[in-house]
Amino acid sequence: MTTTSSPYQIAVLAGDGIGPEVTNATLSVLQHLCEITPGLELQFTSYPAGATHYRETGVALPRETLDACLAADAVLLCAVGLPDVRKPDGTEVQPDIMMVLRRELGLYAAVRPCKLYPGVSSPLARTEPGIDFVILRENLEGLFASYGGGCLVGDDVATDTIVMTRKGVERIVDYAFQLSRRRTGRPSDGKRVVTCVDKANIFRSFAFFRKVFQDVAAQYPDITAEAAYVDAMSLYLVQNPSAYDVLVMENQFGDILSDLGAGLVGGLGMAPSAEIGDHHALFQPSHGTAPTIAGQNLANPLATILSAAMMLDWLGSRYDDSLAKQAGVRLEQAVVNSLGEGTSLTRDLGGMAGTTLAAEAVITALNYLCS
Ligand code: ATP
Repeated sequence: MTTTSSPYQIAVLAGDGIGPEVTNATLSVLQHLCEITPGLELQFTSYPAGATHYRETGVALPRETLDACLAADAVLLCAVGLPDVRKPDGTEVQPDIMMVLRRELGLYAAVRPCKLYPGVSSPLARTEPGIDFVILRENLEGLFASYGGGCLVGDDVATDTIVMTRKGVERIVDYAFQLSRRRTGRPSDGKRVVTCVDKANIFRSFAFFRKVFQDVAAQYPDITAEAAYVDAMSLYLVQNPSAYDVLVMENQFGDILSDLGAGLVGGLGMAPSAEIGDHHALFQPSHGTAPTIAGQNLANPLATILSAAMMLDWLGSRYDDSLAKQAGVRLEQAVVNSLGEGTSLTRDLGGMAGTTLAAEAVITALNYLCS
C-alpha cells in the first residue's frame, strides 16, 4: 500500500464520439461529490488522444499524454476511436491507443462488473435472485499478446499466436480470488466462487491456464474454485447468471464474455470497467464511441460514472484512504437510487433522460444521501 494525500491527480482522456459528453457528465458529478465530501480532492487534467486527434495531427496517443497517464494517480478514459478514421493500413486507431496504454501502464487485470440494478430491465425473463458477477479479463497476454505481431504468408495464410505465461496467469488468478474475498458471494446463495473459463479440453495453452488456476486456488480454501469451458459458459450465463461471482479468463474470452455480461444488465451504457496494474490504473466505460448518437445528449453516462466509483474505491485501497473508498460507495449508491426512482434512465434503458439530466439525477441522489 502506498500512502499519499489528496489532491489526487486524475488524467482525463475524453476521446471521441460520445466520449466528451459522458466525460463532462461524469466530471460534473465528481466535482459535486468533492464539494460535499470535505477532504476529498480530485484534480482533473485533460489530455488529447483518439481518432479526432489523429485526424488533426497524425498522432493518436501523444507521448505527453502517455507520460501524463504514467505520472497521474489514476486515468479516466471515456471512449476513443471512430470507424471512419483509419490508418494507412486500413485499421482503426483505437486498438493502438489501448494496447500502448495497457502495456506501458502494466494494466494486467480488466475488471468488468455485470450488475443488474433496480429499475433497469434485463432481456432475461428470469433474473431472481439477482445478477452480480465480475468478468475478470487477463489484459496483457492471451491472443492480444500477438497484437502488432502475427504473421501473414502471402495472400493465403494468417496467424496470431496465443501467449500464456505462469507469471501472467498466476497474477490474474490471484487477483480473482482476492476480488472474491472483497465481495459478498454469488446472488444465488452468497457463496464465494471463482470460476475459471477456458478451453482446456482442446488447447494446451488453456490446459496450462487451468492448471495454474488450480495451483493458485489451493491457496484459497475459503473460496470455491470451479472451471467451465467458454462455450458452455456463454450458455450458463444466459440460463443462470445468479450462480456466478467472479469469472477469470484469457484476454480474448474476457473481451467477448464481458459484452455478453453487459447485455444481461441493461447494455453497454451500464457496463463500467477498471484496468488495474501494480502501479497504475485506468477507468473507462466498456462501451465505444457510439458515433451514431454522439453530440445529441443521448448517451448514457452511468457506465462512466460507475467507472469513476471504481476509481475512488481503487484510490481508497491503494492510498489507505477511507474517505475516497466511502465516496466510491456513496457514488454507486446514488446511481442505484436514481435508477430506482427512474430519474437517470436514459433512452437505452427505456427512459427519457438525456446525458446531462441523468448526471443531474445522480447529483440530486448524492445530495439526498448526504442530507
Ligand atoms: P468499439 O468497437 O469502439 O468498442 P462498438 O462497435 O462496440 O465500439 P459502441 O460504440 O460501444 O460500439 O456502441 C454500440 C451501440 O451501443 C451504439 O451504437 C449505441 O447504440 C449503443 N451504446 C453504446 N454506448 C452507449 C451509451 N453510453 N449510451 C447509449 N447507448 C450506447
